[in-house]
Amino acid sequence: MKQNPFWHDGLRFECQGSGKCCVSHGGYGHVYLTLEDRRRMAKQLGLSTTAFTRRFCDQKNEVWKLKDGPTTACPFLQERKCGIYEARPTQCRTWPFWPEVLQPRTWMRDVMSFCPGVGKGKRWSKDEIEQQLNMQKKSESEYGS
Ligand code: SF4
Repeated sequence: MKQNPFWHDGLRFECQGSGKCCVSHGGYGHVYLTLEDRRRMAKQLGLSTTAFTRRFCDQKNEVWKLKDGPTTACPFLQERKCGIYEARPTQCRTWPFWPEVLQPRTWMRDVMSFCPGVGKGKRWSKDEIEQQLNMQKKSESEYGS
């Protein structure tokens, strides 16, 4: 019989605006992008998708990501706030409900100690978490496009 995931009864999470998830840390070093992400971000900045991609993106192992900048912070992070919040990439929308993060040990050991929003505010239901997970999985399958 398949066991219920540890988040079966939901999880509390509400962004506390720490900006920590917008800075490279450990294994979470890149902001990966789908074509839809690049189009949306380009539009917000008044650029063509090609111009945006040339200026802000590069590829790693054939998947698109934001270029590494001079610091470990995302180039769009402005005083702990996202400068393109409405157009932010999918992985930023779905944090912390990522497949590799929603594992009991990773959640307890890494995520809870790192992200001050975990365990606070809104309780996300199992269905809502599944929705975020599916959005993230779809996005991950499109990073090469
Ligand atoms: S795009 Fe915005 S939300 Fe995503 S890492 Fe950069 S600053 Fe943070």
